[in-house]
Order: sequence, then structure tokens, then C-alpha cells
Amino acid sequence: MISLDEARRHVLDRVREATPSAIALADAAGLVLAGDVVSAETVPPFDNTAMDGFAVVAGDTTETPVTLDVVGTVAAGAAADRPIGPGQAMRIMTGAPMPPGADAVVMVERTTYDESAGTVEVEITVPPGNHVRGAGEDVRPGDLLFAAGTQLTAGHLGVLASVGVDVVDAFRRPVVGVISTGDELVDDGRPLAPGEIRDSNRRTLLTMLEESGFDAVDLGLARDDEAEIEAAFRTGLERCDAVLSSGGVSMGAFDYVKVVLDRIGEMRWMQIAIKPAKPFAFGLIGDTPIFGLPGNPVSSMVSYELFARPALRKMAGHRTLERPAHVAISDDPLGRHDDGKTHFLRVDGGPDDTGRWHIRKLGGQGSHQLTAMANATALAVVPDQVDIRAGDEVEIIRLGTLGV
Ligand code: AMP
Ligand code: MG
Repeated sequence: MISLDEARRHVLDRVREATPSAIALADAAGLVLAGDVVSAETVPPFDNTAMDGFAVVAGDTTETPVTLDVVGTVAAGAAADRPIGPGQAMRIMTGAPMPPGADAVVMVERTTYDESAGTVEVEITVPPGNHVRGAGEDVRPGDLLFAAGTQLTAGHLGVLASVGVDVVDAFRRPVVGVISTGDELVDDGRPLAPGEIRDSNRRTLLTMLEESGFDAVDLGLARDDEAEIEAAFRTGLERCDAVLSSGGVSMGAFDYVKVVLDRIGEMRWMQIAIKPAKPFAFGLIGDTPIFGLPGNPVSSMVSYELFARPALRKMAGHRTLERPAHVAISDDPLGRHDDGKTHFLRVDGGPDDTGRWHIRKLGGQGSHQLTAMANATALAVVPDQVDIRAGDEVEIIRLGTLGV
């Protein structure tokens, strides 16, 4: 058996960032920037009002109330057709440019407008700059907006739109294929014959890929047959940046995945000191990373979490590959294991009133018992020979959308 760290390093050392490409903003949500983005524009582009009201000369409001002549109106999207001078004001709507000569805005609620007289009475004294949003207060030309490595979220895309950027240099979402292998598997909903089970791994792995922000491709189900397995991988190599398979990586007599991958790729077959997910294979066919995940449903999910997800994140340009580690209080005894392995237990939990995470061990911890994994909000990490009693702290990895 090799350590978890060694296995993880082995995988991460062998996958590379994808080649960046020019991607339209409309397709860039969730992608990672490959280069710094510097602004060529100014935001706001001009001094404008933050309020509906009257643009004035601040000095005119030292003594209030004061009556000013209203010499025009300026709406958002328009420009004032004349400047204002002392004793004058202009009606102005939120976002409209400040008229030349005006240096402050009085909000409409603090004014009384007499339309027929063409005057406005201002109730309050305002300082210069009152409710004025200055040009460039958000962004100036030459500003570094976002550094390479930034994952683009809604706000980032909004800023890029605000400065007129419509294409970014970013890492494409990796396209990842998923193959199930095994003669016992059924995927068409028919009644099960003796010895058959339904294929669940493909659904979980395709979904985990999507949840991780990758594009998942269903490469179907391959029987325990060399030609079928090879054909499925070949299709994956044509269509995908990486391929995941499940099943056939342990010590079984019909594990043709091993035969095929050893023939067409450079694989390392590992026994890792963890439970579940001890058997795992990783390698390359050409430049394409291949992840041979174990067949047991919980094992395939844990293996994806520990090995495939970080590696695929590296391909997608992420700088942070692992989920953040958290510490929780275990409300249950998690016990002690003396088998040389780190155990990943399926636990449910959440924060208490003080924000501290507490977890409870779920029933059904077998690697074939997918229900506990489905209900797990986290995996508790119990190192070899460490006894976790009720009330002890334990490291957890939050799963799904709870993790990052
Ligand atoms: P294997 O690694 O192929 O020996 O499979 C280990 C265990 O996982 C066996 O009990 C398989 O039936 C089960 N298994 C393999 N693939 C799947 C799958 N796609 N869905 C559900 N169970 C599976
Ligand atoms: Mg099998």
C-alpha cells in the first residue's frame, strides 16, 4: 500500500493545465482566467448623480431655504444641453451626467419644485460632491482588474462587461468522459436477472463532474470484454480531455480494464492506504489522463473526490485544488482503526448556534452502501490508530455544494 499523499502527488504531477483560449464572456462563468485582465476603460465613465433630484452649485445652498432657477432637465443616457451658473439648478435623474458648472446634487425629497414658476426651493445645505459619483471611482484605465487564476463568478463577469471586455483568456472547462465496466451491470431499466445489479456509478460520476464545473460525457457501459472496453476508451480519447472508468481495478479474475489500459496506455495500479477506495489506477493514454476508479459505489465517489477532482481542477487552471479542510466536533464515537489506513467516514452535520460544526456518523458505512454517502454532508477523516471519541475534534471534508 502507498500513502494517500503519494498517490495524490503521483496524479497531480502528471496532469497539466489545459491550453488557454479566447472565450466569450457569455461562456465564461465558472472558468479560471489564464492571464491578468487590465482595464482600458473608466467606470463610471463620467461624473454622474447617485440620486434623483437637482444639480446645483453647492455654494448656493449655504443659506437655506433657497430658491433657484431651474434651467433644464437631464435624464440618464442624455447630456445637459447647457451649463448651470450661480442661482441655477437642473433637474437630474439617477445615472445622468452632471451638468457643467454643477458640483452637487440635492435629493428630490429635500426640494419643492414649482414647475410653472420654473423654480425649485432647496431645504438643505449640501457640500460639494454631494451625491455625485465621480468618473473612475470604480475602475480606471490601466487598473489590474483580476489576476490570472481568478475563477470568474457573476460579479467578475459584471465588471468585465462594465469595461467592455467581451472575450477573456481562460481555461476551457475540461470535458470528461465516464465509462462503467462490468458484466453484472444493467442500465436499461429491465428486471434484473440473477447476479445483475443496476449501474449507479455512471450517474453519480457524471453528476459529480457537473457539480465540480466540468463538462461530463456519458461513454456508456462496457461489458467485461477487452474489445468493448477498448472501444469505450477510444471514444473517450476522441471526445474528451480526460476519462474516468469505474470497476475492474481490483484483483478480480475478469478485470479486463487492466489488460486494456496496460496495452494502450501508461498506467500505475495502486493500492492506497485509505478506506474506502483502496484500489485506484491512474495513467495517460497519449496525453489524456485516465482515472481507473474502483467499482464499489461509495469507493468510486470517494476516489473521485480524493484524486480525480483535484487533478481535473488543475487541468481547469485552478490554483486551489483540494477542498478546504475543516475541523468539527464529532457527537458520536468514530472509533479507532489499526489497519494502516486513513478512514473516510460518511457523516452528517452542520454548524451549531456558535457556528461550530458538529457531525454524526451515518449508518451503513460499507463501500457498497451508497445511501449513507448520498446523505453525507461531509467525510470525516480518521487517521490510522487515532481514536475519535464523542466530543473529540475531527477533520472533515465537506461534500457537494457545501465544499468549495
Ligand atoms: P469491480 O471493481 O469491477 O470488481 O467492482 C467492485 C464492486 O463494485 C462489485 O460489487 C461491482 O458489482 C460493483 N460495481 C462496479 N461497477 C458498478 C457500477 N457502475 N454501479 C454499481 N456498482 C458497481
Ligand atoms: Mg467489475
